[in-house]
Amino acid sequence: MSAPQTRTTPSPTTEEPTVKELRHRAEWPLVILGLTLTAIVTVSAIVILVSGDAPSEWAMGILLGLVTPVVALVFIRVTYWKTAANSIELTEKQLPELYAVYTGLGERMGFNRPGGPDLPKLYLHNGNGVMNAYATKCRVHAAYIVVNSDIVDLAYVHGDFAALRFIMAHELGHVKCRHISLWRLIYTPVMTLLFLGKSTTRAQEYTADRVAAYYAPEDVLTMVTLFAGKNLGHRIDVDEYFRTNAAHGESLWLRFANFRADHAVGFRRMDALRRTLTEGWNVHGKML
Ligand SMILES: [Zn+2]
Repeated sequence: MSAPQTRTTPSPTTEEPTVKELRHRAEWPLVILGLTLTAIVTVSAIVILVSGDAPSEWAMGILLGLVTPVVALVFIRVTYWKTAANSIELTEKQLPELYAVYTGLGERMGFNRPGGPDLPKLYLHNGNGVMNAYATKCRVHAAYIVVNSDIVDLAYVHGDFAALRFIMAHELGHVKCRHISLWRLIYTPVMTLLFLGKSTTRAQEYTADRVAAYYAPEDVLTMVTLFAGKNLGHRIDVDEYFRTNAAHGESLWLRFANFRADHAVGFRRMDALRRTLTEGWNVHGKML
């Protein structure tokens, strides 16, 4: 869909921001915290196990928990084949209009350049009413992106590719910023136990939105479709949407709801995207 209302949007600058600049400011501190705490927990568990001074059951449990990422390697392959075998790979001959938007984005974002990452395979999956898309690994050095049919419907049923373009830029942003790197599984168990796993994911989602805001700046407000649904998104008055959001005011409960979300809640995410229209892509959404 087109941006619900015409706005003056900044064009991408000629000098591309680096991946470091594209990251949300909370992402890297949370990753470093996770790695540090994981190292401390691992060393502590080994010391306890070796010394034998304390009951070792819980230390062994922690070590087994840290093995989880290794097990995940197997599930990545299984999940890929289960997904791919029940989806349709898109190519220049399969939904070519969509694939042209995708490859155009990929080219601008640095995929398939000499020494750069390969453009991930793109799959269409039956969403059965769920508007979703995601990027993940199929092999250690290869990614793929899945986009649900309910999002593709926006383009082929409602004749509007803007929301699809923004969402694909967001998913390619996850790949570009290496959010799907397998080493990130290392800190996941510890951060999850500390109720910080969703915060780490939320920061990554903001990063992907920042990437999409840079490469598809005219499409940022189409995100409202995720909250309105594919058939009503184009009818939403975004100015009224933001007015009613503001009327809710700030509250501890809003902050708590955002803290408990792996994707920032709509009020927060949309507010950050709206700010990019006047401030440029370099906006950091609120973590709380
Ligand atoms: Zn995402």
